[in-house]
Amino acid sequence: MEQSLSVLVIDDDPLIRLLVSSKLQAIGLNVLEAASGEEGLRLFDERRADAVLLDVMMPSGIDGYKTCAALRGRPHGEHVPVLMMTGLEDIESINRAYEVGATDFITKPLNTTLLGHRVKYLLKGSQITQQLLLSKQKLHQLAYYDELTELPNRLFFLEYLQRMIAQAERQKTKMGILFIDLDGFKRINDTLGHQVGDRVLQVIGKRLYKSIRANDALVRSGKNSEGVSLARLGGDEFTLLLTALERNESAVTVAERIRVNLAQPIIQGRHELVTTTSIGIAVYPDDGVTADELLKNADLAMYYAKRAGGDMYRYFSIHMTEIALRRLTLENHLRKAISRGELELHFQPQLDIIQGEFNGLEALLRWNNQEVGPILPAEFIPLAEETGLIISIGEWVIREACTKVQAWRKRGFSLNRIAVNVSAVQFLHRGFPEVVEQILNETGLEPKILELELTESALVSDVDYVMDVLTRLKEIGVQLAIDDFGTGYSSLSRLKDFPIDRLKVDQTFVRNLEQSTNDSAIASAIIAMAGSMDMKVTAEGVENDFQLDFLKQKFCDEAQGYLLSKPLTAMQLEDFMTKRQPESSTFFVD
Ligand code: C2E
Ligand code: MG
Ligand code: MG
Repeated sequence: MEQSLSVLVIDDDPLIRLLVSSKLQAIGLNVLEAASGEEGLRLFDERRADAVLLDVMMPSGIDGYKTCAALRGRPHGEHVPVLMMTGLEDIESINRAYEVGATDFITKPLNTTLLGHRVKYLLKGSQITQQLLLSKQKLHQLAYYDELTELPNRLFFLEYLQRMIAQAERQKTKMGILFIDLDGFKRINDTLGHQVGDRVLQVIGKRLYKSIRANDALVRSGKNSEGVSLARLGGDEFTLLLTALERNESAVTVAERIRVNLAQPIIQGRHELVTTTSIGIAVYPDDGVTADELLKNADLAMYYAKRAGGDMYRYFSIHMTEIALRRLTLENHLRKAISRGELELHFQPQLDIIQGEFNGLEALLRWNNQEVGPILPAEFIPLAEETGLIISIGEWVIREACTKVQAWRKRGFSLNRIAVNVSAVQFLHRGFPEVVEQILNETGLEPKILELELTESALVSDVDYVMDVLTRLKEIGVQLAIDDFGTGYSSLSRLKDFPIDRLKVDQTFVRNLEQSTNDSAIASAIIAMAGSMDMKVTAEGVENDFQLDFLKQKFCDEAQGYLLSKPLTAMQLEDFMTKRQPESSTFFVD
């Protein structure tokens, strides 16, 4: 067996190469020789040795450690046995040898008889390992994969699902299980034969794979999965696991995409085949907490979809199907909302408590769709975020707000702040500061008039990136506020490093000022803290005099709420401003 095996000897000392080579040839091995690390690597690439003998100290070029590390980085060098030859017997050089991936080491001066045994032993060991690896892979392949589509099979899926359930339980996350079944596949099989049927299944498997690979902001399923979350259970049944599902209804986006992708005709020779799909969706933990339960309920939901005519998805929970349907309807309408002019901004005045004047506004988005009616931001903003539509909508909001306020300032209204809400998705999207800058240029609004309200969630992700964006925005000259402060998890120590100008105390604390000593303590603390950090504070949701008095006593800078004014349409706001500031048209702008 050793006849065909070759050993690469890398050593700068020709005498040692000679010694070693003759010994190894004597025991029936082929020997390749190299005088430096570089030459050794080149030879290895060309001829691929079954073992490598490597000198540690080679004065010219790369030393043995580097050579070994480089060898390990090569596709065929990963498992090859490497025996390091070292004159240094200290612990550190031995440790280093193992660190760079040496299999074993031998000390110089060499005992050539011992060396022969060592090499033989190494080669044998590595061959056994190789064989084991191969058969293991083969076995794994047979047990866990479906040969026809090369997708994971039922066994794999169930085991994977079990593992993911354990993880979801720990991390308190949701998951979606999609049970996908072709409509009328039996007919294809019966009329056109199994071969065509098999081809169709292969095509479907590929399309499914593609459907989940398509980058999806809302379901991070494909990310860690490399396709493992997709499986063929058997026949024309496929399953898909969506991990990290944010909301139950998010699964429909994937389900819809699959339904549409699979409905494309499949060309098979002279035949153009069209198959529709029925999809059942079960959600962990709502619809089951074990793998069997979830699979069974997703299957049942698929059956509902079939019974209702096929070519559709159904949730296991009937209630969820309704919610999902509304979501899909809204999503479709939202895509066209800007172009159809369905979006509008309302403006809520903010009171400067000390001056007793209204100088600031918050822009609040309104959406009115003819078919569905008015929809609240609380419902459509998350949808816009999940679908990525928030990028264009958010840009529209900033542009519209700047345009309106610039026009009002020109008319002499005393407005020195327009606050605009910015979603985390929008803020973290590449190029956001440039968009802001561009809009300011277009509209001619002074940058310091624009205040961006960020959420704590936008600031807790990648700190360095966040810091970059904030710095860019401050360079442009806009003001930065944190909205709904106190409800997120941002650490105060980190916050103080960010260039933030204002905190907005969340409504919930303001609402309970009278009833809850806890909430009034929090509100007071936020106001005091902002002061000490040189930030301004605005209290939101001020609805009665008690609350306003409290804020006044605590030296809160600004207040906003129904007590002072509800959010107003542009027309109402013009009225409001004119009544409040009769002389404003002849007075200061700032
Ligand atoms: P927010 O930024 O905290 O806005 C304040 C919300 O409180 C507004 O709700 C406002 O109408 C409401 N509000 C104002 N005063 C009072 C009061 O005295 N009592 C009570 N109970 N509520 C009051 P709205 O307009 O429904 O907006 C809800 C949320 O939607 C906003 O919360 C904001 O996070 C988001 N949003 C609104 N417009 C936009 C936008 O253009 N872009 C983004 N990304 N988010 C927006
Ligand atoms: Mg806000
Ligand atoms: Mg708020």
